[in-house]
Amino acid sequence: MEEHCYPVEAEAIRAIDDEVKPGVPYPEILVEIRANAKDQGLWNLFLPDKEHGAGLTNWEYGILCEQMGRSPIVAPMAFNCAAPDTGNMEILVDHGTDEQKERFLRPLLEGEIRSCFSMTEPEVSGSDPTTLQTRAELAGGEWVINGHKWFTSGANGADFAIAMVVTDPDAPPYTRASMILVPIDNPGFELVRNVSVMGHDGGPGHCEVRYTDCRVPESNLLGERGAGFVIAQDRLGPGRIHHCMRAIGTAERAIEMMCERANSRESFGGPLADKQFVQDFIATSRMEVDQARLLTLYAAWQMDTEGKRRARQAISMIKVVAANVVMDVLDRAIQVHGSLGMSDDTPLAGMWRFMRMLRVADGPDEVHKMVIARRELNRAAKRAEAAAGEGEESSDAAGQAEPAKAAS
Ligand SMILES: Cc1cc2nc3c(=O)[nH]c(=O)nc-3n(C[C@H](O)[C@H](O)[C@H](O)COP(=O)(O)OP(=O)(O)OC[C@H]3O[C@@H](n4cnc5c(N)ncnc54)[C@H](O)[C@@H]3O)c2cc1C
Repeated sequence: MEEHCYPVEAEAIRAIDDEVKPGVPYPEILVEIRANAKDQGLWNLFLPDKEHGAGLTNWEYGILCEQMGRSPIVAPMAFNCAAPDTGNMEILVDHGTDEQKERFLRPLLEGEIRSCFSMTEPEVSGSDPTTLQTRAELAGGEWVINGHKWFTSGANGADFAIAMVVTDPDAPPYTRASMILVPIDNPGFELVRNVSVMGHDGGPGHCEVRYTDCRVPESNLLGERGAGFVIAQDRLGPGRIHHCMRAIGTAERAIEMMCERANSRESFGGPLADKQFVQDFIATSRMEVDQARLLTLYAAWQMDTEGKRRARQAISMIKVVAANVVMDVLDRAIQVHGSLGMSDDTPLAGMWRFMRMLRVADGPDEVHKMVIARRELNRAAKRAEAAAGEGEESSDAAGQAEPAKAAS
């Protein structure tokens, strides 16, 4: 990071914006950095199986995500660990056929191409994907896809999309959708525009896309027909740990910058570091970041030791906590930097814009909170039910022999 990423960070961010286009997945400045990282084995660090990646646990990889999150736009790309490719590679490893792995996974692992994930639609609520409208119908051995997507991040310069589409509209809501692999040079795939996000529309983009009679072979179905939701969930568990640990790395760098500025900037007869308001910013940020880090590593550890399903509650919690902590810390760091913080002369403003998405993408805060609360409420209901059951059993028994025990 110190030798290769930070020194070129600002230049690389500009190059990503300016140079990436169809056929150019990465800008020139990153080509050598990526080759270097690959040579050193700092590559595909996210994949937990040794055949394809580094073989690290989620907990171990989380530590590396924190480091990469210190430069959240450049570093994940440098190490071939950037979303949405990471999630796409994971589901191709788990659900791809041999043919799909050779055509789509191998070049992603090698870093020759990028990919995108195409689920959200402008017309319906992305928080509730049972409402998806994009359809795929089988005709003459091909899937014919028609629909409208947006926020297909990274579509500009990508080689293919994994599209989540409705294949079985009459099935129960959670088995209506499937995943289909769509090469982007398909004539039925139209990249309408990079949606401008907080004034930014450069680079790989968050793209609006139209599928119009977009035909792909039947064999491009990824996983089982109707398994779209299951595969989407598979993708999101580890992805959330990665996002959260990167957010913590970003927040950690913001604290460092805030302290450096507070120590060096004088105002009203002394350094900003002596002002209690600023000390409160720093102390609060330190407490929040350390709490968020421990909670995230706990979720990763739970996933490694008890499985994704058991870790669901912790994963939902960190998704809310880390996304909010990083925004609060960045906001304080910007405040301490004054007008410099608002400018693009430091990475702070760019990181703020980049990180704001975390409170919305992969499930908005409110949806995660709803789910967290529901699980707690269910647990309480089960406890009450069990207690009532015990009470009934005890009173049956009491009727026969042991009244004292029933009372206890
Ligand atoms: C920068 C960025 C990148 C993205 N990248 C991708 C990508 O690569 N691929 C992709 O498919 N999608 C992507 N998305 C889309 C993202 O997944 C959706 O924005 C998200 O799922 C929310 O859907 P929506 O935008 O339709 O908001 P809506 O579903 O319309 O929700 C709007 C708001 O309503 C509130 N809300 C919703 N449900 C509830 C509830 N049950 N209780 C209380 N409040 C509620 C929340 O405040 C929520 O923010 C990206 C989004 C952003 C911002």
